[in-house]
Amino acid sequence: MDAMEQHNGDTTKGTASPTGSALVRPVPRQRWTIEQSEELYRIQGWGDPYFSINAAGHVTVSPRGARGGSLDLYELVESLKQRNLGLPILIRFSDILEDRLERLNACFARAIARYNYNGPYRGVFPVKCNQQRHLVEDLVRFGQPHQFGLEAGSKPELLIALATLNTPGALIICNGYKDREYIETAMLSQRLGQTPIIVLEQLEEVDLVIAASRHLKIRPILGVRAKLSSKGIGRWGGSAGDRAKFGLTIPEVLSAVETLKQAEMLDCLQLLHFHIGSQISAISVVKDALREACQVYVELVGLGAKMGYLDVGGGLGIDYDGSKTNFHASKNYSTQNYANDVVAEVKEACAAREIPVPTLVSESGRAIASHQSVLIFDVLSTSEAPGLTTPVLPSDEDHALLRELYDAYQSVSIHNYQEAYHDAVQFKDEAISLFNFGYLSLTDRAKIERLYWSCCRRILDVVRHEDYVPDDLENLEKSLASIYYINLSVFQSAPDSWAIDQLFPILPIHRLDEEPTCRGTLADLTCDSDGKIDQFIDLRDVKPVLELHSLTPEQPYYLGLFLGGAYQEIMGNLHNLFGDTNTVHIQLTPQGYTIEHVVKGDTMTEVLSYVQYDSEDLIENIRRRTERALQDKAITLEESQLLLQHYEHSLSRYTYLSA
Ligand SMILES: *Cc1c(COP(=O)(O)O)cnc(C)c1O
Repeated sequence: MDAMEQHNGDTTKGTASPTGSALVRPVPRQRWTIEQSEELYRIQGWGDPYFSINAAGHVTVSPRGARGGSLDLYELVESLKQRNLGLPILIRFSDILEDRLERLNACFARAIARYNYNGPYRGVFPVKCNQQRHLVEDLVRFGQPHQFGLEAGSKPELLIALATLNTPGALIICNGYKDREYIETAMLSQRLGQTPIIVLEQLEEVDLVIAASRHLKIRPILGVRAKLSSKGIGRWGGSAGDRAKFGLTIPEVLSAVETLKQAEMLDCLQLLHFHIGSQISAISVVKDALREACQVYVELVGLGAKMGYLDVGGGLGIDYDGSKTNFHASKNYSTQNYANDVVAEVKEACAAREIPVPTLVSESGRAIASHQSVLIFDVLSTSEAPGLTTPVLPSDEDHALLRELYDAYQSVSIHNYQEAYHDAVQFKDEAISLFNFGYLSLTDRAKIERLYWSCCRRILDVVRHEDYVPDDLENLEKSLASIYYINLSVFQSAPDSWAIDQLFPILPIHRLDEEPTCRGTLADLTCDSDGKIDQFIDLRDVKPVLELHSLTPEQPYYLGLFLGGAYQEIMGNLHNLFGDTNTVHIQLTPQGYTIEHVVKGDTMTEVLSYVQYDSEDLIENIRRRTERALQDKAITLEESQLLLQHYEHSLSRYTYLSA
């Protein structure tokens, strides 16, 4: 921890400008190193072993982790652009997906060996986490050696799982609301050699299952999802507990057992399932739930259910900020800790009752799918950060307020910055009320506002060196930041950032050997003030601004959003009609890499058709209007041709801006 603290100290020192540097050119200091960038953006913390920085200052990707092979992300993006694949672009690394799957299985294998657990691990991937066909197909293929299965949470997801999974012995866990058709489809798939387990989540499903089984003369494998009283914490805490949306309460579990027994189907009940929420950041929460679930499991065995499977659900977390803490964007345990706890806890509970241990099932989605994709987008422009101009000494003719403000500006020091700030705010407020009453000219008001911002910046330069930032000065950093306008829709590509303030690591993928001297927040293409990112990962808590480089004219500036491979794609929406981004699948080869699949992003025609517009009709409408305008001589023939050309061309194009 000491080392970490110290690193953070260094980082602050390295990036903040010396006091008063807003007024003079910063004194030349030691050359910025890629190690400093690595620390600043905490890449090791969240990206190891897949992401790092090379000597050219570019982000590199090692999709197979420590097993070798890496590629330069910046160069990859450049070569994709040469292939006419514009930004924003989602780059998928199937090798990362494979590595994540291997790791999870290896952790359980180690835990099973370590505790002499006499049963296997059969994980499943929850399809809802990322339903894209290429990804699910890859997962099924990579999972074959481990008999890795799929979890479906709805009827359409069941259809995907049934048609895609072709691994003998791998499980299809059938969760979610079910009707008779869902249940019969799952049961019938047993005839195709699948191993579906129908998890009873609502009491009504018990009767449906019994009726379907009698009708089809198929004996299904059934599970029950229990509502545990151990609560998850954080955002998805509501997934557990008595009031949770899914699952049976303990009395309901008992009544299901009773009903199945009367129907002579208690031997069908083989699995206990629980799910306490996603991104569980504290291992203690996992342990509490496990302990409770294990007792339910052994009791079910005692009641005569056949059992044999224990499904611990999802929740395995991701360290988005690399802090290894129980902060919501982090987790205080490793996958190995997790696997050890599951295996040890279950073994102990079964040993105490002298019953055989179950096959262990987990439904980790986030932990498998998050790392595999990187979203790259470019910055279109930036707003000027306020307070960067050097103020001029006011003359005797200037307004008294301006002169007083200038005194406050000059007096800023480590001893009085808080007082100076309050003075500056007061002078500025006074200026605005004078202006509103007609006693201050627009020019004077502009001078005062400009000086006010210079004053704030000077104060910020002092504050940045302080360990403790007073509450009233906390927003200074944000109000003095530049806005970076990004070629992206947050609603489409990072919806959780907007909807639930989820943090994702974001950083430039090049120029990392250059000091990022600006601080900015990100604003997206939509006309929605929520279309922004102004919370960034930090060792402690979150940062309101991100360290970025100033734009170089004529040069692109690429940012990468990492760890967004789970949930974001499917939850993205068409706000302002920005559609799916371009996507490519990259696989390493001994020579370099190949592009396995290219999935072109939506065109405007496609996006418009989702909202029922027909592009032919739209064009026809514009054509008729130009005809009329031509007759009225309101438009020239050239203009009308150009307008129609642009209109038709746009329809066939990507919804994002082309640089
Ligand atoms: C969403 C969900 C999962 C996946 O959870 P992660 O936290 O992404 O691993 C697993 N099981 C069920 C029942 C779910 O609803």
